[in-house]
Amino acid sequence: MAMNLTRRHFLKTASIAAASIPLSQVVAKAESGVVKAPLVSPGTFKNTQTAVGGVCEMCFWRCQLVGKIRDGRLIKLEGNPKSIDNGVSICARGNAGVKMLYDPDRLKYPMKNVGKRGAPKWQRITWDEALDTCATKLKAIADRDGAKSLAIFPHGSSATYPMHFFEHTVGTPNVSEASFFQCRGIRDTAYMATIDTPPNEDVDMANTKVIFLLGCHFGENIHVSHVKRYLKGLENGAKLVVVDPRYSASAAKSDIWVQIRPGTDTAFLLAIMNYLIQNKKYNIDFVEEYGEGFEKMAAGIKGWTLEKAAQECDVPAAQIKEVAELLAANMPNVAIHPGRHVSWYGNDFQRQRALACLTGVLGAFGVPGSFVLPKGPKGLTKITWPKKEAHEESLQAMADVHHYSPPGTPTDLIRNTAITGKPYPIKGCVIWGQNPIQTIPNQEKTIKMLEQMEFVMCVDVMPTDITMFADILLPDCSYLERYDMIKTGTQWDFADTQQQYIAPRMPLVAPGFERKESIWITNEIAKRMGYGDKIPVKSQEEGVDKMLAGVNLSIAQIKAEDGIHLQPGKDPYGEMDLTVLFYNEELEDNGYPGIPTYIPVERAPAGYARLLYGRSPVHTFNRTQNNAWLMAEMDTTPVWVNDKLAAKLELKEGDTVSLVNQDGVKSRTTATVKVTPGIREDSVYIYHGFGSMNPDMTVGCNKGIDDTSLITKLAVDPETGAHGMRNNFVKLVKVS
Ligand code: SF4
Repeated sequence: MAMNLTRRHFLKTASIAAASIPLSQVVAKAESGVVKAPLVSPGTFKNTQTAVGGVCEMCFWRCQLVGKIRDGRLIKLEGNPKSIDNGVSICARGNAGVKMLYDPDRLKYPMKNVGKRGAPKWQRITWDEALDTCATKLKAIADRDGAKSLAIFPHGSSATYPMHFFEHTVGTPNVSEASFFQCRGIRDTAYMATIDTPPNEDVDMANTKVIFLLGCHFGENIHVSHVKRYLKGLENGAKLVVVDPRYSASAAKSDIWVQIRPGTDTAFLLAIMNYLIQNKKYNIDFVEEYGEGFEKMAAGIKGWTLEKAAQECDVPAAQIKEVAELLAANMPNVAIHPGRHVSWYGNDFQRQRALACLTGVLGAFGVPGSFVLPKGPKGLTKITWPKKEAHEESLQAMADVHHYSPPGTPTDLIRNTAITGKPYPIKGCVIWGQNPIQTIPNQEKTIKMLEQMEFVMCVDVMPTDITMFADILLPDCSYLERYDMIKTGTQWDFADTQQQYIAPRMPLVAPGFERKESIWITNEIAKRMGYGDKIPVKSQEEGVDKMLAGVNLSIAQIKAEDGIHLQPGKDPYGEMDLTVLFYNEELEDNGYPGIPTYIPVERAPAGYARLLYGRSPVHTFNRTQNNAWLMAEMDTTPVWVNDKLAAKLELKEGDTVSLVNQDGVKSRTTATVKVTPGIREDSVYIYHGFGSMNPDMTVGCNKGIDDTSLITKLAVDPETGAHGMRNNFVKLVKVS
């Protein structure tokens, strides 16, 4: 039996703790959120009004904003002083939202591609023509081959409402969210298979004694309130353990940096657990009260001695022991971070299970400084599309694989089905806010999938690499121009009194040109496809008000409260309804290891280095690649090369290189070399998201190297079907 995962269950404690229904309105003359707010602003701006109710979406974290408006134009964004989440702080990307809003390259009108997919020629058309075409084409395909012949690739809050329309009401199971299958899906399902709860990232770092990070690189990965908690913990004297092949911004602050061989993290975690168990240094009381299958796990990992792990992980045995002793000495007040982007090597479900089990071995649940589930506001009304009674089976269910898949369908299964036509054809494609060229490995395969489609529609704010493949391209409102999702959360760790907040997104300015919001676009397509009677909300204001009615609030009231409603919170510590499955019988029944198990991955062949990638502090992957302010900060990605490897290859700092992967794929663009002992000799590292190929991105096109183009080899995680993307190897070729 596979887990019965619903999207809502899966999302219920997601880090953003947001009510995930975007409720945008669509009216060209949307009322702006401008009010005469009595807010104390950190900046002084003459002749401006302060607009409240902004919620950032330059990344998914959703900090609360105010905007400075002069003559109807947004001139500056700041954190909302009333926020108990990010406060007045926002990051570089948050600030640069202004530049995104007025980017001259933004999509402005509905467009039709009269050229080829991949080499488009755009012709401006009316909204009526665009909507008629989308609805007619999608309906014809679904009528002929069934709803399952449509695939949808959504991303971001704007895409949730249309995703529910196509998934629930039209009825296709072929929905693939990059955030699930290329990012955090493995983490959430592995924790659910261990403690029946997906983790959020609100581990109590501010009040902990030890922060344990495996592959997390805070400082380069910036989510404002999260980084504040991390820094508060360090300020309070927490020890920091960082496991990373690279000397990241976090490694630079660490007490212990474990420069591990890529792909061997599970071996490292098993050896720590085994050491603690063998030496009776684990949390015996906790394990007895909350654990199940502990003896089975203890017996199964007995072979993982410090020495064996040291050899596998290429780190000293004494260092593994040092980490284990540090954790034991401070348990249960240790923060084992579950990570965010965890699709690495195709053995990732096991690593995430091991992290959850290590948390259990230490009893680090529900006490200060540990894994906690802070309680946010409850009671917002749910608004969603009605579900079809008889639903199509998913591709993974048909093939009886990936029983622990996140909600939706693994992207590679959709691609394979579309390309082969087996077990059925997929001929219509809706891409909403996602850029599968840059998010999904093996670009050639993605392009092949798109080429065989009868119809491709894209909705986005900016041109991206994927929009080049659209037949119809529609301009979405940005997060600064629309009502939308309601961000909720809680603050528990910076004050003695807990508080909760409710912050619906409100427009700071009216939408420009012919941009429309997703509810309007979806409803218009739905009407034309014959689903007009099923439309759940007519406008964003109606929708947001309906949601807020569940907690006896309204837009008007929250506007009067400066954009954020505060209410008393609840103590996040204390009894948790918890069982830790150290051994999971159901996993074993499905053919997977019942206890966390190390699965080795391929090592770099001679002459090659493993391609590792990560976040840049001033970019959100590819989404900010055309932002002139952010590109002024960083417009390319250096290639981190180990100093010894550089000497062997006769490369020096600043040399220009191309990368060629194991399948002979060469990077379209070049980058410069950064020579450093801060990366292992068997690996190189670049920032993800650079090297866009769309010439309509006049700032970002061809800047830096596109790592996704070099990730041609997929390692599919067996439990989840998610894609491991760090099993590709590259050679560096010096460019004269
Ligand atoms: S962390 Fe930065 S980009 Fe992300 S929501 Fe906050 S301000 Fe915006």
